[in-house]
Amino acid sequence: MSNAARIDGKAKAAELSEKITAETTALRDEHGLQPGLAVVIIGEDPASQVYVRNKGKRAESCGFYSVQHSLDADTSQEAVLELIDELNSDDKIHGILVQLPLPDHLDEQTITQSISPTKDVDGFHFINIGKLTSGNMADAFIPCTPAGCMLMIEDHLGADLSGLKAVVIGRSNIVGKPMAALLLKANATVTVCHSRTPDLPGVVREADIVVAAVGRPNMVTGEWIKPGAVVIDVGINRIDVEVDGETKSKLTGDVEYESACEVAKAVTPVPGGVGPMTITMLMFNTLRAARLSAGLDS
Ligand code: NAD
Repeated sequence: MSNAARIDGKAKAAELSEKITAETTALRDEHGLQPGLAVVIIGEDPASQVYVRNKGKRAESCGFYSVQHSLDADTSQEAVLELIDELNSDDKIHGILVQLPLPDHLDEQTITQSISPTKDVDGFHFINIGKLTSGNMADAFIPCTPAGCMLMIEDHLGADLSGLKAVVIGRSNIVGKPMAALLLKANATVTVCHSRTPDLPGVVREADIVVAAVGRPNMVTGEWIKPGAVVIDVGINRIDVEVDGETKSKLTGDVEYESACEVAKAVTPVPGGVGPMTITMLMFNTLRAARLSAGLDS
C-alpha cells in the first residue's frame, strides 16, 4: 500500500515556467530587456539533439531570444572558443550553454571555463562553483538539476533543514557535489556517498532526505528508506521491459518507485520528477542573468 506523496515535478515546473514567462514580459515592458539564451551543440549525438531542441523551444515559450549554434563534430577547439568569445561579448545573449558530452578531441574543462561566469547559466564555471560552495549565492548560478531538486525538497520540508540528515548518492560535479552544497547551505547534516561507500543501504537508512544521482536503475529500494523520508530520484536510465510478450524500452530512475513509496513521505517519479524541473531552472537562471546584467538584482 503506497503512503507517499508523488512529487509532481511536471506540475511544479509548469507553475514556475508561468512565473518566468510573466516576469519576462514585465522585464521587456518595464526595462526593454529580453533575456537571451545561446545553446551550442557540437556533433550529432541524438540525445543531445533532443535536449537542445527542447531547451530552445522552452526558451522561446518563455519569451526569450533564443539561438542555437550547431557545429560539426570535427570543429576545432579554437573555433569553439572563438564562438564562445563572440557570445560572451554579445549584449543580446545573457546565458550560454554548451551541451555535453563533447566530442573526444575537445577539452570540456577549457570550453566550460571559457564561458563568462556572468553568462554561465549551467553553473559549471569555477567562479560559480566557488560562490556556491562558500555560501555566497547572491549572484551565483546554481547548476540546474540540484537547484530544481532543492525547490522540491523545500516544498515538503521548508527552507530550513536544521536537524535533518540528508544523504546524496553520487559525487559528480553536475549533480552530487552541488546538491550537497545546497543541502548544507540549508542547514541539513549532509553525507555524500559514492561507488566506494561501504554499507550504502545502512547509510541511506539514516536519511530524512535522500537524493539519488547514480545512473543505476532501481538501485535504491524501499528497504533502504527511513520511514517518512523525502526521496528525490535524479537518475535517468533506459531499460528494456516485457509488455505483452514484446520488449519495450522504458525510462526508470535510480529509485525503485513503488517500494520507496511504501515507506517514504514523498518521492519523485521518473519520468515527471526532476527532469522537467532541470530545464525550467535553466530558464530561471537565464532570466536571472538578464536581470543581473541590468543591475536589477543584487
Ligand atoms: P555520473 O556518472 O557523473 O556520477 C555518478 C555517481 O554515482 C558517481 O559519483 C559514482 O561514484 C556514483 N556511483 C556509481 N555507482 C555507484 C554505486 N554502486 N553506489 C553508489 N554510488 C555509485 O552521473 P551524473 O551526471 O551525476 O548523473 C547521475 C544520474 O542522473 C544519471 O542517470 C543521469 O542520467 C541523471 N541525470 C539526470 C538529470 C535530470 O535532469 N533528471 C540531470 C543530470 C543527470
